[in-house]
Formats: sequence, C-alpha cells, structure tokens
Amino acid sequence: MTTMFPAGTPACPPPIAAALAGIRRRIAAAARRAGRAPDAVTLVAVSKFHPQSSVLDALRAGQTVFGENRVQEAAEKFPALRGDWPALRLHVIGGLQTNKALEAVRIADMIESLDRPALAVALARAADRAGRLPDLLVQVNTGDESQKSGVPRALADAFIDSCRQRFGDAVRGLMCIPPAEADPVPHFRYLAELGRTHGLALLSMGMSADFEAAIAAGATHVRVGSAIFGHRPAGPPNGAIPPACLAAPES
Ligand SMILES: *Cc1c(COP(=O)(O)O)cnc(C)c1O
Repeated sequence: MTTMFPAGTPACPPPIAAALAGIRRRIAAAARRAGRAPDAVTLVAVSKFHPQSSVLDALRAGQTVFGENRVQEAAEKFPALRGDWPALRLHVIGGLQTNKALEAVRIADMIESLDRPALAVALARAADRAGRLPDLLVQVNTGDESQKSGVPRALADAFIDSCRQRFGDAVRGLMCIPPAEADPVPHFRYLAELGRTHGLALLSMGMSADFEAAIAAGATHVRVGSAIFGHRPAGPPNGAIPPACLAAPES
C-alpha cells in the first residue's frame, strides 16, 4: 500500500517511532502524577485507516497492542503479522455488527465493544464455533448519545451482570467514548465507579486528546490513534469519532 495521507495534507506527522516514544513518556508521567505505576497503563495503538506498513513501523518500535474499529480492515492487516510478531495483541474497538462476530472472535485478542444483548448472543455462538473466546470489555454509552454505540447508563448494571453470567471471567472491564464536545472527566469517573461497583479490573478510556485525564481517572488502557499515526484520511463510518480527533498530532 502507498501513503494514506491525502494530497495537500499540511503537516507531516512525526515518524511513528518518535511519536510512540513521546506518547509513552506522557503516559508514564500521567501515571506517576496519579500515583500509579507506568506499566499499569497499556497503550492501545489505534491503526485504523493506516496501512500495514505503519503497523510494522510501530511493531519495530516495540508497540505490541493495536486497536482497529472495523473487523474487515483488521482481518486484512493483522493475522498475517502474527507469525513474525508473536507478542502482537489485536483489540477490536469499534461498533460490532452481529454478522461480524465470528470473524472478530477469530482474529481478536480483546473485543472492547460488547454493548447489547444481541451481540452477546452472537459472540457466544461465534466462540463455540471458533473454539476461542477473546477477552471482553462492555462498552458503556456514558453520554447516552443516540448515534453512539454502547449500553445506555440505565441498562449498564443489568447488562454487565448478564454478560458475566454468560462469559464469566472473560469479561475483564469497561470501555467508553465520551461525547465529543463535553468535558470527558465526569465520564471517565463514572466509568471507573461502575467498574469498582462490579469488581472489574480494566478500564479502556482516553484517546489522543484526553488520555492523560483518563489515566488520572484510572484508565488501564488508553486508545491512541492520530497522535501516533498522524491524520486519518477519513473518519470511521459509524460517526463515532468527532472531527476534532482528526486534528494534527501533538508534538
Ligand atoms: C479512532 C478511535 C480511537 C483513537 O482516536 P484518536 O483521537 O485518533 O486517538 C479511539 N477509540 C476508538 C473507539 C476509535 O474508534
């Protein structure tokens, strides 16, 4: 594949290795400020819309955990890399259609977007067929936004309980994408409290623009895309990602 950047893109993103090193430093500093160990936070490098060559650059720079929000794209980029990179871990982080459940279960190490009963049923069936079950995070629609995936707040307790009955310890934690224009901190705190209530260890929250605030609130996983890989040529089709996320990467 050739470059994914559209003609006329003004600022060149920094090389991926340098960007990764900068993000890792900021993660470690944010963790220390919060009185947490730097290795308590896992960086999920979100490579959606970027070519496999960018994933390889990140792997060579020591990055092992990647996030993709479309199963089809992930299936094209990742399985072929596993032979050479056994430490590679793939997280599916986007809204998941039930007809993609089997492919997702086959290729993912973690699915962060378990958000409704129909998907739980489809994933359970897929796990039976595939003979494997990835780790699971329940995605919570903390802003109760109609266009966004995630279980609504009012249904979260019951849905988490039912997922744990169905999947047991494979349910590792919670994930959220706060509303684009809102202060994300109350959303991060709400998710952390919900995780405590349910005794769930993992919290996937925080993206390029707000991962430090998420770490202060207890994030164990931050999903960082554009600050590592640069601009994406287009946003994802589900409209979940605000235009602000396409801004120039921070240096
Ligand atoms: C694209 C995406 C991200 C990364 O967003 P950036 O702002 O580029 O860091 C994180 N989480 C999800 C669910 C995404 O789809």
